[in-house]
Amino acid sequence: MLQQYFAPGRVNLIGEHIDYNGGLVLPIAIAQGIGAKVLYTGSPEVRIRSAGMKGELAVNLLEETFEKRPEAWMNYPLGVIKYLLPYIQSHTDGFDAELHTDLPVGSGLSSSAALEVLTAYILLNMGSRQSNTDGIQIAKLCKQVENEFVGVNCGIMDQFAVSMCKAQHALLLNCNSLNYQYVQFEPEGYSLLVMNTNKPRTLTDSKYNERKSECMHALALINLKRGNQPIDNLCQADFNWLGYIKEPMLLKRAKHVITENYRVQAAVNALEAKDWYEFGELLTQSHWSLRDNYEVTGFELDTVVNLSVRASGCLGARMTGAGFGGCAIALVETTKIGHFIEQVKPNYDKATGLSLDILVTRAENGVHIKI
Ligand code: ADP
Ligand code: MG
Repeated sequence: MLQQYFAPGRVNLIGEHIDYNGGLVLPIAIAQGIGAKVLYTGSPEVRIRSAGMKGELAVNLLEETFEKRPEAWMNYPLGVIKYLLPYIQSHTDGFDAELHTDLPVGSGLSSSAALEVLTAYILLNMGSRQSNTDGIQIAKLCKQVENEFVGVNCGIMDQFAVSMCKAQHALLLNCNSLNYQYVQFEPEGYSLLVMNTNKPRTLTDSKYNERKSECMHALALINLKRGNQPIDNLCQADFNWLGYIKEPMLLKRAKHVITENYRVQAAVNALEAKDWYEFGELLTQSHWSLRDNYEVTGFELDTVVNLSVRASGCLGARMTGAGFGGCAIALVETTKIGHFIEQVKPNYDKATGLSLDILVTRAENGVHIKI
């Protein structure tokens, strides 16, 4: 029988670069994602093709030694199959899958997590989550695959969002405890725009690791002063403890982390109060902090955010994802979207020599089977 699955991408509304500091993040699953047409064959053979990608991943569940493949894209599904194998009931769960996507690849909308979580749901033949525990376990396993098998140093947010998000809601996730709750996100009269800078993310990986180690360093400095009351991560620090850090650069990094975590809580309060102005303002404040304190924005992201916040009808804008390229988001009055695009896109394109892509999106369901 032919089955169709869909795994969305995600955007993080606010809470940037704090997942690895034990902080709060607030992602939504978006309308764009990876779809799969799947035929279960009753054999141990798995075959996956993806439109626009070279080759076919062919795996035998019984015989496979799970050597990494030269075609980079294949290692995401291959890793998931390898790590899930001990959990599947029968080795005749093979399938033939055709993937197609409308998610920009490598742009910070988590196409990699979508591909991983999609593969897991297909292999487990899970039409829907039997329980939330399953969704969380799958997210953890997919993160492990990306870290260990693919070799990308990402946090848990992406896989958790793709697996667990719910339509009309943002997902408030504590990256330390993995406690989560859904917060209604249906901005009536406003729309969420995702703007792809189309700037290649060349610096992202090295700077990501650099920021991670700077945060460890800042944490160690705080703990030196805390004596026998150490904290586990920077997001547990009180704003007043920033005085313990004398080194200016580390101070800025820690300042971003601590204030960003506060901003997520304030953003949740704003959503609950349906105070879209406050919510928009917090998005923009987050961007300034990522620009000035955390220094992960860059010319293209700053240009698109500067143009956005000046455009009429825009309540706030910020980069989303790891930074140095990728995407930004903006909350814009729905009736003014056309005008917003006219004001932002040509000016961005002129200033950068790149072409800005703008998608209108909203909070959608996480991975699911299509009926
Ligand atoms: P992001 O997750 O931000 O989109 P990554 O660099 O983490 O960027 O992941 C992008 C990689 O994921 C691609 O280079 C490709 O290997 C894989 N990928 C994403 N979408 C697909 C797809 N539809 N088919 C095959 N591989 C994909
Ligand atoms: Mg990714």
